[in-house]
Amino acid sequence: MAIVINGKEVAAKVKEEVKEEVKLLNANGIEVGLAVIIVGDNPASRVYVNNKKKDCEEVGIHSYEYALSDDTTQSELLDLIKKLNNDKNVNGILVQLPLPKQLDEKEVLNAIDPNKDVDAFHPVNVGKIMIGDYSFLPCTPAGVMELIHSANIDVSGKHCVVIGRSNIVGKPMSLLLLHEHGTVTICHSRTKNISEITKQADILVAAVGIEKFVTADMVKDGAVVIDVGMNKNAEGKLCGDVDYLSVSEKASYITPVPGGVGPMTRAILLRNTLTAAKIQ
Ligand code: NAP
Repeated sequence: MAIVINGKEVAAKVKEEVKEEVKLLNANGIEVGLAVIIVGDNPASRVYVNNKKKDCEEVGIHSYEYALSDDTTQSELLDLIKKLNNDKNVNGILVQLPLPKQLDEKEVLNAIDPNKDVDAFHPVNVGKIMIGDYSFLPCTPAGVMELIHSANIDVSGKHCVVIGRSNIVGKPMSLLLLHEHGTVTICHSRTKNISEITKQADILVAAVGIEKFVTADMVKDGAVVIDVGMNKNAEGKLCGDVDYLSVSEKASYITPVPGGVGPMTRAILLRNTLTAAKIQ
């Protein structure tokens, strides 16, 4: 039976560390601030933004919300980002995705000052991650690494299989495992005989977006299984990409959903905002 890596506990530790460091900065007259831009009224985005504001409050980071209407133009949004880039009270800028379709997401993300890019989506930060010389790491992959470290799992020399190759999860995840000397295989929707590959994994990371995609027969005995997926099941409940009950019989370590990677993503955003304040 697998040991459960408790994301809530690890995230609470990260938040506590951030809180202490923010206090130290405050004692030296430095305040830390995060600007969150939300465009339109996507209910899921609203929940995420509210959570981020709550997290900021908990650790003493000021959060500034910019709620823009659905019909915001590209130039209005770019003007706001320019203003925030020059605002000394704002250390981090986050644009909640997805954006309404009239907006060019790429241009918007590229407009953020790389030193305030706490999501690490700007090409400068993406490039820095590639060469292993970075200030910020994208929140979800960094959170996964933190979970792996919390369980004292050594990545070096392990066969790491990542399912998913998105720019925000799969690709950076693979690089972080590579930086820690894992031997990395990336699977995606065109991968053939995927279970033959996943069965070789010492560390298996699922970032697919399909409920119960990873079944027990795809997992090697004793593997570490990290579930990034955030899906809704038929009852509307949050679930991951891994068939948790059967896979936890085979894995050595496993992350649950909820309570695994999700809380870590939120905690790392706070840490990135603190890092941004320090850089500035
Ligand atoms: P995404 O952009 O939709 O990427 C999904 C990836 O899965 C793609 O690379 C896709 O391959 C691959 N894929 C889809 N169907 C597949 C199949 N049948 N076999 C193998 N690979 C397949 O999603 P994402 O943004 O990376 O997110 C992935 C999951 O993580 C989602 O459930 C998302 O909600 C969740 N997530 C969680 C957190 C968190 O904090 N816990 C944060 C971000 C995302 P192709 O590239 O070939 O299309």
